[in-house]
Amino acid sequence: ADEVVLAGRSNVGKSTLMRELTGHSFETGGKPGVTRSPNSYDWASDDFMITDLPGFGFMSGVPEEVREEIKTEVVQYIERHADDILVAILVVDGKSVIDIIDRHSGEGEIPHDVEMFHFLQELDIPTVVAVNKMDKVDDRDERLNDLCDRLGIYPPWKQWQETIAPITAKKGSIEPLNDAVRHHLEAQKRDDL
Ligand code: GDP
Repeated sequence: ADEVVLAGRSNVGKSTLMRELTGHSFETGGKPGVTRSPNSYDWASDDFMITDLPGFGFMSGVPEEVREEIKTEVVQYIERHADDILVAILVVDGKSVIDIIDRHSGEGEIPHDVEMFHFLQELDIPTVVAVNKMDKVDDRDERLNDLCDRLGIYPPWKQWQETIAPITAKKGSIEPLNDAVRHHLEAQKRDDL
């Protein structure tokens, strides 16, 4: 079945975004590691599923090996479903994403978000980076340009509106994401003809 997947580190606002996208309410801030298996829901208006993948990366109280397992599960899920995935939404926290990426850009280290972005591109899955919590970001353009730079795509971000979607999920301000997702869905419909 056709599918849109949501991936991202824990606490970036994936559950909040799911609620906005689907109109359903999901438990947020629950114990990490409890709802680990991918959850699928029908996207209200269209005939595809939207799947919220387990959050990866640091979660307080969750041991490193469990976090690694979760990431492996996410990667395997995406590999297994790659042919059915129409669009992947990689959710990041606009307020902290640059700091987190830079902190983990040491020798032989690839930050989760950067790794996931490249992984999705390698699988040829159209990807939208939903840059959430923009209500907490003052230097908006600079931050989004920096993110392009870290992801290996050329700034300015405004050239990448199908890829970089600044949103504030908590306030329901997700129009750039809807536009970007719609763009990819329509591009694929044209390809299918
Ligand atoms: P998840 O772990 O990725 O599912 O994240 P949640 O949806 O549970 O959100 C984590 C925290 O971020 C919660 O306290 C949310 O209220 C908050 N949050 C989510 N979206 C936004 C946003 O757009 N702006 C701000 N400021 N906070 C947000």
